[in-house]
Amino acid sequence: MRRPLVAGNWKMYKTAEPAEELARSIVAQVGRDCEVVDVVLCPPFTSLQAVHEALAGTPIALGAQNMHWENEGAFTGEISPAMILTTGCTYVILGHSERRQYFAETDEQVNRKLKAALGAGLSPIVCVGETLQQREAGQIEAVVLGQVQAALQGLSESELLKIALAYEPVWAIGTGRTATPAQAEEVHSLIRTSLHQQYGEGVAGALRIQYGGSVKPENAAELFTQKNIDGGLIGGAALKADSFAAIVKAAC
Ligand code: PEP
Repeated sequence: MRRPLVAGNWKMYKTAEPAEELARSIVAQVGRDCEVVDVVLCPPFTSLQAVHEALAGTPIALGAQNMHWENEGAFTGEISPAMILTTGCTYVILGHSERRQYFAETDEQVNRKLKAALGAGLSPIVCVGETLQQREAGQIEAVVLGQVQAALQGLSESELLKIALAYEPVWAIGTGRTATPAQAEEVHSLIRTSLHQQYGEGVAGALRIQYGGSVKPENAAELFTQKNIDGGLIGGAALKADSFAAIVKAAC
């Protein structure tokens, strides 16, 4: 059985002090649920250190929301894998649709970042998902499987086993419009079948695929009990300790 992975993407919210407070409340409320679920908090770069302190001695892991593929260099405004490692991060979100949409991040860049993250010993969460326009044009499979293939290009089996994918339909992110469990499961199943065809049973059976897009305490349990959904990547509902803790509970 795959162990569920629930990660909170705090996006560009929470300066250091409120971030630390939120992390401490999450630690208090999540309690022993972490024994059966991997839980990760991904605050903004400037709050990583503070959240790391709040998570010390707990099983909750720390993640960054993005990174550059180079370890250092003349890349103004960027943060490297080596830099996020110094803050205590063990996870990193890559290829989030907001990075693709607003910062023109390409599949090729996601692939370079993914290789760099693995090289640095980080556990990457790689996001894929179609826009509403692509869904309505019948392009879900082409878009999502194309993103998966491009992201994973050139990785070995042992590297693939360190990755989690997050299927996040763009039309469901931050909109309150969640994919139904059946809609989500259909795409998760397509992804797993394609992993099976390309990499075999070992990778397809082990690789975790999270669902993301307006997950809330009210819909989490039904989504997480789908056969191919292995937890969630949570945006808005991760900014409140009680709702995030309830979502973690739903993955138990
Ligand atoms: C996200 O940012 O990855 C996300 C899924 O956001 P939300 O839960 O707010 O839709």
